[in-house]
This record gives sequence, structure tokens and C-alpha cells, in this order.
Amino acid sequence: MRPDPDCRLCGLWEGRTKIVLPSGDPDSRVALVGEAPGATEDAEGVPFVGRSGKRLTRILAEAGVDRDDLLITNTVKCRPPGNRDPKQSEMSACRVFLEGELSSCEVVVGLGRSACRDILGYPVNMSEVANRDLRITIGGRDVVFIPTFHPAACVYGKAAQEGLRITAERIARELKP
Ligand code: SF4
Repeated sequence: MRPDPDCRLCGLWEGRTKIVLPSGDPDSRVALVGEAPGATEDAEGVPFVGRSGKRLTRILAEAGVDRDDLLITNTVKCRPPGNRDPKQSEMSACRVFLEGELSSCEVVVGLGRSACRDILGYPVNMSEVANRDLRITIGGRDVVFIPTFHPAACVYGKAAQEGLRITAERIARELKP
């Protein structure tokens, strides 16, 4: 199920240029879920193509992962004003679309605290949970959930860089035939 092109289920419709739908392979067993589109994504209608997206694409490539082999999406499909975190009500309104997007996935990677909080339903300390396998139910299906750092966090420290590198290597193993 995809949002209507004029979706107004939450207030984020007011500031968007484009609804940002998933990119990559919709049938992939691995999905990456970020929190929300930024300015570049809003303009182009594609997730993770701005500065953070380029960093993510490079880290994946260094682990031998082509981003087109993954499903890449966000918890909300419209850009929050000023790049603020999405509100709980906005994530809840958009949840039906996220669950539809993840209907083929067996491994879901949450990028950053906000996306992980939405998917898990409780806040996490990323330095404690990054790259730990959690079993969750999403859209009525059991999946492995892996919390990890948002690529934007990599500019602030080596822990996030190293954490995301470990995640990329895990994704490479998950995609091996
Ligand atoms: S964020 Fe999701 S629910 Fe809100 S307007 Fe955009 S597509 Fe609709």
C-alpha cells in the first residue's frame, strides 16, 4: 500500500515538495529504514540521496553492498519542516505505508534513534544496542531488527563510523546467496 499522491494523513503534507517513496529492490530480504527525508530527498523524491545518503552509499559499497539490492525507506515519507524529528503522531499516520513496504523483509535495519524508537516503540541508547539482533513483529510478521547509527552521526565520531561499517558488513552477509 502506497500513499495517495495527495496524502494528507498527517500535517507533513503542508511542507513537502515530493512524497519520498522507497528506493532499491522492493523484494529484498533486507531493508534500511531512516527517520525522514531531508531537503535533497524532498526535492528529488528519492530516499538517502543527500549528504548522509552519499555517506551511507559509500559505506555500503566499501562492504561490497550495492544499495539497489536493498529496500531503502523512511518512517515518514514527507520532510518535516526544518529537518526536525518526526512527531509520534506523524510516524503513526505513516506507519501503514512502512508496514506495507516491509512486507517482504526478513531483516530490518533502523538508521538512527528516531527510526529505531518508532519501530521498537521505545527509546534506545544507540551505543548500547547498535548491531544487536532484536526479534520484533512488524505488520504481523516476525523479523530481525538491527538498530544502528544514522549516517549523519558519522561526522561526530568514530563510534558511529565503526558501528555503521559493522552494519554494512552484516548486510553483505545477509545478502549472500
Ligand atoms: S508523512 Fe506519510 S502520512 Fe504524512 S502526509 Fe506524508 S505520506 Fe501521508
